[in-house]
Amino acid sequence: MNHQELLDSLYQKIKNKPDKGKVAKYIPELKKINPDKFGVNLFTTTCKSYGAGDYQERFSIQSIAKVLSLTLAINLVGKKIWNRVGVEPSGDPFNSLVQLEFEKGIPRNPMINSGALVVCDILISKLKEPKKEFLAFVRKLANNNTIAYNKKIVASEKAFGFKNTAHVNLMKSFKNIKNEIDEVLDLYYHICSIEMSCEELSKTFLLYANGGVLTHNNERILTVSRTKRINAIMQLCGLYDEAGEFSFKVGLPGKSGVGGGIVAVHPGKYCISVWSPKLNKKGNSYKGFQILEQFTTETESSIF
Ligand code: GLN
Repeated sequence: MNHQELLDSLYQKIKNKPDKGKVAKYIPELKKINPDKFGVNLFTTTCKSYGAGDYQERFSIQSIAKVLSLTLAINLVGKKIWNRVGVEPSGDPFNSLVQLEFEKGIPRNPMINSGALVVCDILISKLKEPKKEFLAFVRKLANNNTIAYNKKIVASEKAFGFKNTAHVNLMKSFKNIKNEIDEVLDLYYHICSIEMSCEELSKTFLLYANGGVLTHNNERILTVSRTKRINAIMQLCGLYDEAGEFSFKVGLPGKSGVGGGIVAVHPGKYCISVWSPKLNKKGNSYKGFQILEQFTTETESSIF
């Protein structure tokens, strides 16, 4: 079966199954989405794109953007970043505060909220205009100048971001946040509010499948070593306390967001992105996870 036929058949099969997930409600603006949206896109490192369902419609990529902010921060400060954020799986939900006090304000990894907030703090220290420069960086990776922040999502998250505020305060008390608390939260919410379609997401993440080099113009963004490290972090931490299950069933580095997106990377081969807004109990897309599992099983392609 070719890729297009396979995506079409998996899409039909999973679309018609009951969805046990629930749309994220704690960000009011995210509740407005049609819960039945469902799309999948496969983009190969040879620049062939295949898609099914709503794969060209934009959605809130949320925590998936944490990989992009990490990429920019690593390039700005190098390995010093690891003094302020770890690389171990947390085994806890993405917004858990529990470990952070025991571990003296050093987040377990950059994929959980606390870790991504530290990354934002680093970007603010290093960049003159962090929001503008981060967006320009994402547009460059995506080769698409229409990628944008969604201000309504930013406002919605800000209004209900009590837990993220708690994270930044706790880390500030341990001196792991250097800038103003509101400035860190503002950048973080902007980063989470970026919208992309499955196809744009796969294309943007191709650099992690392509040894750190953009496929559209051959520009090197990351060294081979840093690409390896970011893929390793996605593998171990990208789906939070479901990262083990995702490795077990899908077998690829991946990153999820509460908007219902998941992107997975097969180094040397492809990126695959899925979008279905209803989330399982761990905050990851219920149907998205299923289609990825079936795709890597049917194609017998995983990193293991
Ligand atoms: N913006 C969301 C938050 O801070 C991101 C969470 C996610 O996508 N897992 O809670």
